[in-house]
Amino acid sequence: MGYIELNVLNNQSSLAMGIDLGTTNSLAAVWRDGRPVILHPEGKSGSVPSVVHFPADGSQPKVGREGRDHAAAAPERTLFSVKRLMGRPAADVQGELARIPFPTSEGDDGVLRLNIDGREFTPQELSALILNRVHDHGCRALNDEKPDRVVITVPAYFDDAQRQATRDAARFAGLDVLRIVNEPTAACLAYGLDQEKSGNVVVYDFGGGTFDVSVLSIADGVFKVLSTAGDTHLGGDDFDAALVGLIVEGLAGELSEEELKDPGFLTAARLSAERCKHALSKDPQAELHMVLAARGVTFHRTVTRAEFEALIEPLIERTIDSCRRALSDAGLAPDEVNEVVMVGGSTRVPAVNAAVESFFGRIPHTELNPDEVVALGAAVQAHILIGGSRDMLLLDVIPLSLGLETVGGAVSKLVMRNSTIPCSVTEGFTTYADNQTGIDFHVVQGEREMVSDCRTLAKFQLKGIPPMPAGMARVAVRFHVDADGLLTVSAREESTGASTRVEVEPMSGLSDEEVERMLLSSVEHAEEDFAVRRAADLITEIGTMRTATERSLDGVREHLDRETLEDIEEALKAAEEATSADAERLQALRDELERATLPLAALLMDDVAKAALSGKRLEDV
Ligand code: AMP
Repeated sequence: MGYIELNVLNNQSSLAMGIDLGTTNSLAAVWRDGRPVILHPEGKSGSVPSVVHFPADGSQPKVGREGRDHAAAAPERTLFSVKRLMGRPAADVQGELARIPFPTSEGDDGVLRLNIDGREFTPQELSALILNRVHDHGCRALNDEKPDRVVITVPAYFDDAQRQATRDAARFAGLDVLRIVNEPTAACLAYGLDQEKSGNVVVYDFGGGTFDVSVLSIADGVFKVLSTAGDTHLGGDDFDAALVGLIVEGLAGELSEEELKDPGFLTAARLSAERCKHALSKDPQAELHMVLAARGVTFHRTVTRAEFEALIEPLIERTIDSCRRALSDAGLAPDEVNEVVMVGGSTRVPAVNAAVESFFGRIPHTELNPDEVVALGAAVQAHILIGGSRDMLLLDVIPLSLGLETVGGAVSKLVMRNSTIPCSVTEGFTTYADNQTGIDFHVVQGEREMVSDCRTLAKFQLKGIPPMPAGMARVAVRFHVDADGLLTVSAREESTGASTRVEVEPMSGLSDEEVERMLLSSVEHAEEDFAVRRAADLITEIGTMRTATERSLDGVREHLDRETLEDIEEALKAAEEATSADAERLQALRDELERATLPLAALLMDDVAKAALSGKRLEDV
């Protein structure tokens, strides 16, 4: 009787699946409609945590997201990072064994065994559980078509034993391995670099817990790994740890040393740190915020991007040292590298990107999602191996974001840069003024925050909106970019069905150099754009608050005492100046208006409550 149930497949599918079997997360992709696509069942992420949890009641192991969910409560029954053990004798993985919560031994064949509840498992068997889960997850996105032929990726530095162990894992999972492919090669395939005649490529892969750099040469579509370097224990987790350090430092006076080392505290601190880190990848500053409800302690601190960059600089420098080493091992100088490809979530940190760009003296490829690029490449390889052709250009992504002008001259981006096409996005908009019967739409392209810094693509008007108070109209705006890159923007008012549309070719008249210039200018102006955007948003918010206050005051003026009334009127008068002041001043005006109108809000709430109690309908209040 098998303790573990695996689905063994038998129906031959016309598809072949690419699987990125990762240390932390795994992903599956297939070739569909002329391009590789990540498989994710509707509404779910494609990523499957590479985690196996063994329930204490001896029931079937929980794998993937379910396994990870159990990890917090029972870490002593949960296995992470099985990939680090694959195909390695016990003697080589002593460091890794320290964090494995089960007893281990070495079999007569030299293969590591984990003793779990009296049963022995090899890393291959555990990895098979993960592969099976990823495969199932992917098949659900294929309406249960089950392609059992797969391509699995492994790090370029994996030796024969590690590759064989991966093959064995796939066999245990009932999968037919078409090929084991190097992760950096897959990343190059995803970018279509196999179509280059010759050249050298560097793949910089910076994930959550590991850093790898590989130097490859291409000759007539065939990749050869020239060298690899890296650090198996360096990743985004170390960036998080640097921010956790700030929390620990800040709470040192309030919590005891033991409390600061408590695993629950550290997990919460790591989560706050990661949130803050992600925000810092797009904003010049972010909040590091943590509440310890049980202790009544709150930690709050603003971290600027510059501060964060200073903290992580030595870590980034270590990755550049590895790049230097890999290049020297390959016998190449930085200027002999033709392409640099970015892989792994940590390459989203702008300082990482900047360091790589400056070291190699060229802009690295970041057009594809760095978490997906390896799985996408595995799908390309799988497609080629079953005889498919890949005539279609892989890089069909939108190079510059597409959006609409909103009140105050700010841009609301609907289709983000690097979205693969075809794609559609629908967002709701409303009217700004009372009885507004038309809306002017201004479609723009670019990465900057304000319309004046973006490129105008089209202007059009939606008419026929029935007169109603500001903010009541419901207008759905849809951006659709078809496979040829043609953008259709349509707007529809929901109550009357009034609609209009416009078609534009976003890339017409734009050269590659102009696209690059627009991208660079968004990076250069990020900080100042943030301030201008904040000011524009505050001006809009103050405008809305003023209208609402003036309207509400009319009905209840006589119920407010003189002092409050004067206070509100003073704040309203001051707010009139909110047209072009700087963001700090605008924030002060907004806050003052909010403070002054608090008694008014309380009074209105009171009226609502009384009306409700006397059986009046709220709308009649
Ligand atoms: P991977 O192992 O490739 O999935 O990478 C995961 C790592 O990427 C984790 O440390 C994440 O916190 C990090 N990561 C993901 N998104 C971002 C982001 N937007 N900014 C900074 N780090 C990120």
